[in-house]
Amino acid sequence: MKAWKILFLIFLIVASVLIIKNEPPYHTDRGFIFGTYYNICYKSKENLQHEIDSTLKSVDNSLSPFNKRSVITAINENRDTIVDAQFSEVFALAQEISNATDGAFDITVAPLVNAWGFGFKQGITVDSITVDSLLQYVGYKSVELADNKVIKQHPQTMLDCSAIAKGYGCDRVARMLESYGVKDYMVEIGGEVVSKGKNNKSKQWSIGISKPTDDKSGTINELQEILHISGKSVATSGNYRNYRYEDGRKLSHTIDPRTGYPVAHTLLSATVIANDCATADAYATAFMVIGIEKAIEICKQKEIDAYFIYSTPEGGISTRETDGMKMYHK
Ligand code: ADP
Ligand code: MG
Repeated sequence: MKAWKILFLIFLIVASVLIIKNEPPYHTDRGFIFGTYYNICYKSKENLQHEIDSTLKSVDNSLSPFNKRSVITAINENRDTIVDAQFSEVFALAQEISNATDGAFDITVAPLVNAWGFGFKQGITVDSITVDSLLQYVGYKSVELADNKVIKQHPQTMLDCSAIAKGYGCDRVARMLESYGVKDYMVEIGGEVVSKGKNNKSKQWSIGISKPTDDKSGTINELQEILHISGKSVATSGNYRNYRYEDGRKLSHTIDPRTGYPVAHTLLSATVIANDCATADAYATAFMVIGIEKAIEICKQKEIDAYFIYSTPEGGISTRETDGMKMYHK
């Protein structure tokens, strides 16, 4: 080989090593927020842990009913409050999804969630009289946002954004990362995920759909399916982690806001893929209320995809999915 060829080869090797060495590292940040865990992985020159923390704190200060100083708590306590931009954004999206699901998704479900013992206040004994009296105060059409204030028809009405806030938190962290030029990331809060670009093995991000095994501790994690996703959001709602038994009946933490009762059907979990995580999160909960057939109709109209796991009469489990879902796990 000619000398100049050898030199060129050496130059190429050195250049490649330098390029690889200059690649920003992947950072992982884990913590606790909204009563659950978050796990964020991103490729960046800078460590953005402080920015992640403050993004999540500001969502919590707006939307967490467990936070005594949050905007949503002030609204639930009927204190005169100007809402922030995050609250307005989530409120508008929640109302849109309530409309699209005929009220199956409804953030005014709070008094019922609390009564059934799944909310931010202690549960009471629930009977049909209690349910009927609380239903008067539930209904997304009885609240509106005007001049940055929530107007309630009934002071007893309370809001619960638990079924959309985790997804929204993921979206906010993703926006923050984008603003720092980060292009490869995976943001997960309590099982709701936003992913973009590649993981540290230069592959698409893998996101597992859990097998719906009854498990309050959340420690069993057998996977039903693995999704390969980039540039989309995924959220799962299920009744196998948060539930309790009463008189031998399993009560799910998803409530049908139209009847006032926890949903009781064969659907065990609904996983939704959408362009943003707040949307995926809210529809996943709505689909647990409306069941598979209606959910598939909505998926067609809204250009979202879904994967359902349900129990069969024989005691086993089976799955259904939209056509578009298949490409994420093939
Ligand atoms: P998970 O990630 O545990 O499945 P979800 O995102 O489905 O949680 O949200 C469930 C929570 O949403 C409940 O604990 C309750 O606070 C609230 N919720 C229950 N039913 C509804 C409903 N029909 N519409 C909106 N929020 C609901
Ligand atoms: Mg949800």
